[in-house]
Amino acid sequence: MGTCCEKRQSVPELFGSHVFNDNVMQERLPKDVYKSLRQTIDEGKDLDLGVANAVANAMKDWAVEQGATHFTHWFQPLNGVTAEKHDSFISPTSDGRVIMQFSGKELVKGEPDASSFPSGGLRATFEARGYTAWDPTSYAFVKGDSLYIPTAFCSYSGEVLDKKTPLLRSMEALSDQALRVLRIFGDNKSKRVVTTVGPEQEYFLVDKKLYDQRPDLLFTGRTLFGAKAPKGQELEDHYFGSIKPRVAAFMKELDEELWKLGILAKTKHNEVAPAQHELAPIFTTTNVATDHNQLTMEVMKNVAARHGLVCLLHEKPFEGVNGSGKHNNWSLSTDTGENLLDPGKEPAKNTRFLLFLAAIIKGVDEYQDLLRISVASAGNDHRLGANEAPPAIVSMFVGDELESVLDSIEQGHAYTGTEEKKLATGVHVLPDLHMDTTDRNRTSPFAFTGNKFEFRMLGSAISIACPNIMLNTIAAEELRQFADMLEGSDDLDRDVRKIVQRVMKEHGRIIFNGDGYSQAWQEEAARRGLLNLPTTVDALPHYLDEKNVELFAVHNIYTKAEMEARCETALEEYAKTLLIEAQTMSQMAHREILPAVGGYASQLAEGLASRRVACEGISWTGEVRLMEKLSSLLNAAFDKLDALDSAISQAEGDALAQATFCKDTLLPAMEGLRGMVDQMETLTDAKVWPYPSYGDLMFRV
Ligand code: ADP
Ligand code: MG
Repeated sequence: MGTCCEKRQSVPELFGSHVFNDNVMQERLPKDVYKSLRQTIDEGKDLDLGVANAVANAMKDWAVEQGATHFTHWFQPLNGVTAEKHDSFISPTSDGRVIMQFSGKELVKGEPDASSFPSGGLRATFEARGYTAWDPTSYAFVKGDSLYIPTAFCSYSGEVLDKKTPLLRSMEALSDQALRVLRIFGDNKSKRVVTTVGPEQEYFLVDKKLYDQRPDLLFTGRTLFGAKAPKGQELEDHYFGSIKPRVAAFMKELDEELWKLGILAKTKHNEVAPAQHELAPIFTTTNVATDHNQLTMEVMKNVAARHGLVCLLHEKPFEGVNGSGKHNNWSLSTDTGENLLDPGKEPAKNTRFLLFLAAIIKGVDEYQDLLRISVASAGNDHRLGANEAPPAIVSMFVGDELESVLDSIEQGHAYTGTEEKKLATGVHVLPDLHMDTTDRNRTSPFAFTGNKFEFRMLGSAISIACPNIMLNTIAAEELRQFADMLEGSDDLDRDVRKIVQRVMKEHGRIIFNGDGYSQAWQEEAARRGLLNLPTTVDALPHYLDEKNVELFAVHNIYTKAEMEARCETALEEYAKTLLIEAQTMSQMAHREILPAVGGYASQLAEGLASRRVACEGISWTGEVRLMEKLSSLLNAAFDKLDALDSAISQAEGDALAQATFCKDTLLPAMEGLRGMVDQMETLTDAKVWPYPSYGDLMFRV
């Protein structure tokens, strides 16, 4: 928006300039309306229609000034992307003109047709209606020519059809239980406990012109064929490397676009693989962080397009170099801003902290399966356990100091403490640095990093809603149990220590401070009885294990039917993803790769025949060998392609049967074909190969 001659805004002016945030509300809403809305936002009080009408009108006026002509209820259906349907503000007048209008009813509730969103069988086809409900805790914003209103989405009969509703419920459940614990510790002031999240987002950038030549990237977001480039990430020269001008221009515009939307984009750098980068925002409340992460992914794609680039968010765009993940930094704090996972200077004496820590240790151990499920997708299966991301086994890293504190409690010893360490730089002009009590362990799936946990198993493309629903609900459950035990305690310190001791005895196995990428850990984890669920198909059925159904029922997050629906939707998505990939491979092979190689081979043969006549006496052994090699690979490729085509036609049955078939039969068939094709690529004249190579894609940005 604006004109080309617009004066450059400073960052503070730019930040949130497209958001109907607290500032704008205070400025534009009558005092009593503002107060009542604030109560809804801060304390979860119900909103009345009079207030909604006033807010709607102010929102509309503001949005129109920003250039908006439409509004949309923006929601997050089960497929992990966002959905929007735009209505204009126009309303006809009796004299044939229009005015811009927006009512409280339109703000609060929408009725999109729900029939075309995945529901896992929850929504009967005759009842296609769905409802969206305004989430006033996440600010509305203007993007393009629409006012976006963050909403929850459910069916006519009230079943949850989205990711926001259960996320909000899990936040409330956690708040309720954490408050009980705080009260036990004598905190009567805090009104709410919120979970905070800072998601670090990885992505690749490739040139749009090259991207357009690859049907696999276009249809599936990843390369299904591609011989390795001579150089990958082995020189370790890309991570934190200097940023190329074209990428820097993209990142600058991305920051500005995100700032306008009130997204706290903070850190940007090159990642490990060539053409791979990362963006991290400053953390915020979980549901806002979730909305913002969805927006960030979308804005990344749009801004890339303006720079002749394509942003790949797939977990594994290229074989042979690292894929992309998302680190979900997660913590708890009171409404007054006190971080409940901050160990303070003396963690050994910080009873309240130790209790929260114990709750998380116990929860992660008891619900390993749910954490694994929350990150399960076809794309992420390529990363987990592949020596570039944490293994598919869930474990926790707490660092040496906390581990020895916990050990001493478990053994019943007094904690003697580790002396404060200073990192001597050995250079007088440089300051000596205090060492963090938790060192970094990059290979742990769930690491304590100072005053938060970093859940590192997430794939780059997924919504962070599900992992946070799991984390919040698990923590709520453990805090509930502890609060039950501690309410009425006459010696809190002694009783907390008892709890921590028991947790360490029964669940200490989940703590692992070593190298999570090593084979030795896989064996050790098996000895400890930890779950190892290598693929999505192994993980998902555990969703419906009795203890999990009970967990979500106790905290009113999901009914069993809603869980079945989610499980089924995820299995379907897995199978559909693989089938699309298989079909894309088949088409690329039939229509472009095999004809190109066949044509090249016969061109070689014809050339050879005519040269043999012209230059009698030369044996042409090299050319013959090349033709032989190509011809035998071509033959093998045809066999593999036949096998793939036949596998594609056999995927049948219910969601689990199809997904299992895709994992056991389709995926190996795809890999078989790829093996042949990638070898042919290395032997075929680059000029006739139908696609840009890995080298072009990763090094020509
Ligand atoms: P690293 O790459 O070393 O993990 P970054 O600085 O890239 O570190 O990312 C750390 C992330 O953790 C940031 O998004 C930051 O805002 C977030 N974070 C910091 N404190 C908290 C907290 N209390 N709750 C949630 N997230 C947090
Ligand atoms: Mg990180």
